[in-house]
Amino acid sequence: MGIKCLDIVDVEAFAAGQVKPRRARAIQAHVARCDKCRAMLDEFQANEAMLAKLRASHQVQLRSKAELERLSITESRVEATLRQT
Ligand SMILES: [Zn+2]
Repeated sequence: MGIKCLDIVDVEAFAAGQVKPRRARAIQAHVARCDKCRAMLDEFQANEAMLAKLRASHQVQLRSKAELERLSITESRVEATLRQT
């Protein structure tokens, strides 16, 4: 005991790279000694990596012709709906 464990919100923000350098160092120092928080951080970082991959593949999809055509269909539908209101 003695060491206060990390807040899950802090760990999530750290995994997303959204904490200040001073806080990030404190989190790094804690996970180096605490298996529980280390596991929690690993999970968040795996999620972040998966999200980054999804974003990247989505951008590739958007560049394909079929996806652009589908987008323009969606846009015209949105415009039609807006005109009705
Ligand atoms: Zn901990």
